Formats: sequence, C-alpha cells, structure tokens
Amino acid sequence: MTDHHCILVLADQLDWSNPALAEARPGIDTIVMAEVAEEANYVRHNRHKIVLLFSAMRHFAEDIQARGFSLRYFYLHDKLPSLAAAAHQALRETGATRLRLCSPGEYRLSSEMDAWADRFGLPVDVLEDTRFLCSLAEFNRWASGKKQLRMEYFYREMRKRHQLLLDQGDPVGGRWNYDAENRVGWRNQQPIPPRPDIAPDKMTREVIEEVTRAFPDNPGDLSQFRLAVTHEDAADQFEWFCQVALPSFGTFQDALVEESPWVFHSLISMYLNCGLLAPLVVCQRVENAWRDGHCSLAAAEGFIRQVLGWREYVRGIYWLHMPEYAQRNTFSATRPLPEFFWTAKTDLRCLQVALSQSLDLGYAHHIQRLMVIGNFALLAGLDVKAVCEWYLAVYVDAYEWVELPNTAGMALYADHGTMASKPYAASGKYIQKQGNHCKQCRYNPGKVTGEEACPYNSLYWHFIDRHKDVLKTNARMGLILGNWRKRAADEKAAIVGWADELLTKL
Ligand SMILES: Cc1cc2nc3c(=O)[nH]c(=O)nc-3n(C[C@H](O)[C@H](O)[C@H](O)COP(=O)(O)OP(=O)(O)OC[C@H]3O[C@@H](n4cnc5c(N)ncnc54)[C@H](O)[C@@H]3O)c2cc1C
Ligand code: SF4
Repeated sequence: MTDHHCILVLADQLDWSNPALAEARPGIDTIVMAEVAEEANYVRHNRHKIVLLFSAMRHFAEDIQARGFSLRYFYLHDKLPSLAAAAHQALRETGATRLRLCSPGEYRLSSEMDAWADRFGLPVDVLEDTRFLCSLAEFNRWASGKKQLRMEYFYREMRKRHQLLLDQGDPVGGRWNYDAENRVGWRNQQPIPPRPDIAPDKMTREVIEEVTRAFPDNPGDLSQFRLAVTHEDAADQFEWFCQVALPSFGTFQDALVEESPWVFHSLISMYLNCGLLAPLVVCQRVENAWRDGHCSLAAAEGFIRQVLGWREYVRGIYWLHMPEYAQRNTFSATRPLPEFFWTAKTDLRCLQVALSQSLDLGYAHHIQRLMVIGNFALLAGLDVKAVCEWYLAVYVDAYEWVELPNTAGMALYADHGTMASKPYAASGKYIQKQGNHCKQCRYNPGKVTGEEACPYNSLYWHFIDRHKDVLKTNARMGLILGNWRKRAADEKAAIVGWADELLTKL
C-alpha cells in the first residue's frame, strides 16, 4: 500500500512552487492548513496581515481542492492552540505515516519543529524553501571568509546568476547601480495616480468579521482593507504598478509625501512574502518593461536591486547569524517604546503620518520605516527588542527573516555594521529635503534648540555625542564627529541639554 503523507502548508507558503506541494500526490496525500490564533498573535499583528493571510489561505484551499487533493483545513473558530497541535491532529485523523513541509521563515518556528518528529512519533521532512533566489547554502558560501558582507557585491553576483540586466556578462548601461539618480525629494512635481481598488469578496468579508471579533485590540483599520488575496489579483496589482507607477518609482523611491502613503512604490512585499507573487517573475517583468522602453534603467535597476539584492541578502544575513543576531545591541539602547508608537499621537508631523498609516494600513514605504520611524528610534535610544517587536507587529509584510535584519541591523545599527556601513542617523534636514511634511509641522527643521526646534535635530547631536566612542571607530563618521568636536562647549551643552529634556518627556 502507498504511504500516505500529510503536507503542512504555512500561511506564508501559498504557492505551488512550495517544495512540499510540488511533490504532493493528488488522491493520496492530505494537505493541511491551519489558522492558528497563537501564530497570528504572538506579537500584536496588524489585522490587515491576519486578514490577508487567512483569506489568501482560504482562497488557496479552494485551488488545492479543485486540483483533486484532500484537504484538512482548521479554521480560526476551531481554536487549535498551535501549529503543532494542528499537524498532530491531522496526522492522527488521516493515519498518515509522514509529515512534510517547506521550512518556515522564522527561527522560532524552525527550532520548535526540530522536536516534532519525536513528539509525533513519525518522520518529519522539513524541505528547503526553494522559493528564494539564493539558497542558504549559496549565501553561506558567498559570505564565507569575507570580513564584510556588503549587499552591493552580493547583488552583482545575483545579477549574473539570474541573468538580469546584463549585456554579455556586463551590467547594461555600464553601471551596476543607479541609486544616485533615485533620491529626488518630493515637491509636488506630478500627480500620484490612485491605486486600483480591490473590493473584498464574500470570503474576505467573512474573514474581516471573524478577525475583527477575535483580535479586538490589534492595530489595523479593516474598513480600509483593499489587499489582493489571490495570485491573480496580486498579479493584476503588480501589472498596474509596472504600467502606471514604475516609470516614476526610481526617481521618487526616497521621497516622503504628505498626500500618499504609497507614492510610486510597488506594494508587493506582502504578496512576495506569502507566495502570491514570485521574486524572479517580478524582476523579469520589470526588466522587460525597461527593454520595451517603458521606464528608465534607473527605475528598473532600482526595483530589481530591492528584490534580487536586498530581499535575498537580508534573508541570508538572518539565517547566517540567528539566534545570536536577535540579541545584539551596539548602543545598549533600552529606553521603553513611547506610547505614541501605538496611537500615533505625536506632534512630529513626519512621524505622525508614518505611524498612523503603519497602524491603520500596515504599510509604510522604505524611507518612512528607515529614516522617519527607525531614525527616531535610533536617535532616542529606544529599546532594540521593543522596536523590533513593534515592526514585526504592525506591518502586513513582516516576518522575522526580513524584519529583524532591516530593523535591528539597518535602522538601529544594533548589529554593529553587519548590514550597514554606518548608522542611518539623520537630522530633520534630511526629512525636510526628502519631502513636504515639514510645511505641515509645528516644528522648524532649521532650529536645533527651543520649543519650535525640530526634535530630530538635537536628538541627532545627542546621539553623536553620547556614542562618540563607538562611532569614532567608523571612518565614515569621521567628518560628522569632527564637526561636533569643533563646536563651542557651551553650544554643545545647550544642544545636549535640550535633547535631554525631550528624552525625559518621552
Ligand atoms: C526598519 C525596516 C523594517 C522593514 N521590515 C520589513 C518587513 O518586515 N518585511 C518586508 O518585506 N520588508 C521590510 N522592510 C523593507 C522595505 O521597507 C519593504 O519591503 C517595502 O517598504 C515594502 O513596500 P513595497 O512593496 O511598496 O516596496 P518597494 O519600495 O516597491 O520595493 C520593491 C520590493 O523590494 C523588496 N525590498 C525593498 N527593500 C527591501 C529590504 N530592505 N529588505 C527586503 N526586501 C526589500 C520588497 O520585497 C519590496 O516589495 C523593512 C525596512 C526597514 C527599514
Ligand atoms: S520639522 Fe522635524 S518633526 Fe516636523 S516634519 Fe520636519 S523633520 Fe519631522
């Protein structure tokens, strides 16, 4: 008799290239999916994320059944206490002899699963996640023996390996990176096109109701839920981006805009991260858009670098350094997270806009996450673990493999330069240069001390002053430290004293 297997599909593994599914046998194996409250709530996840995943799971489950597979689906109202409990129950019910699944994206779950075979008393095959463009073994090989793991060099190898934007082995246009052309600030240069709306279907509306009842205290305004929950709708959303927003994506990639949470960004991280879109497909589509003359090389390269470079690189860094990576804290930052991170009630306009859209929609673009919220947390010395937990909770696209290196490494420099060559610390002048928030703000980005002064300014110098001993070991910080050193002692004392007052009020 043929052995019957259970195949567990996690909420962020919703595609047929999932290696466990690719080998599944219709009519023989049982596919298992579970909506587990513990997984949805081990941090206070944004309700947009929970709805996206549960609704996408339910839609994918229909596809699974339509392809002739038996399915054991545990709903939220079945109140399964954990994924392990769901897997165990399905194994018992079906009499399966083996459990198979694609490896999870988080260290926490991965180490929990190490004990499953003993617990269930049968073999558990955790297969390598082949949905990424760089395997962990390849990343480790690339990293091995290198003193510094700079993304740029990794990215060049990935371009060659996947034959993207190449001309006989060389980068098209003669350069690997067009980042310098992608930093234009926002001065209302052009209209921002409205995003096509996806009205939630019946299944999604039901999930919205259940999630609203089950997670009353989580962030997320579900009246604004407009995310795709199927492969087709996610592909349509991405196609809209390629046709309408991509030509302006590069130019305004770093822009901060009062009027739009999304600007010209693609809004696809949440789909890539749960399997509704595939990374190579989106990169190839964008390369073709450039080859067809639809967008500039800077726009196409800027986009492909994010997906092929950054996304794969942060995953490699995560698995290379976990679990120790989560303990790092270069600047011994321990200040508790201010309450306004959960309410968005702050009079710093840039921060208020970024926080409220993060809480309400589960989305903020990269510069908001890095240079507005992350920069504030870095300058104010907010507790690294609390900040990372907040990022993991609020964003629809947040999974620890991608959130942790970005937050602890890139935004907070807690990894002492594994990710970034210097801390991404900036004063209010940077935020003013990149956008139009300051015009709506009660603070003045030109002032450093006093009631009207932009808080980012004195906090910036406070950060430089209090960490000068750590920062002086970084050659890229030399100029700024020199500027600070040269200032008159009473001027420095006034700035540091003012920042101290602000920090006390936090
Ligand atoms: C502090 C901080 C925390 C972050 N947390 C997450 C997270 O939990 N999940 C997540 O997917 N991204 C995270 N990012 C990366 C990035 O901000 C988001 O991927 C991006 O804002 C998603 O919006 P978009 O799809 O419109 O991206 P676009 O700007 O349109 O970029 C296209 C795609 O490139 C990829 N990408 C871009 N930058 C990065 C990056 N630094 N790391 C990994 N992928 C990248 C994403 O898949 C994204 O969809 C974080 C960045 C910072 C600074
Ligand atoms: S003045 Fe400062 S706090 Fe206000 S929006 Fe500008 S940078 Fe942000």
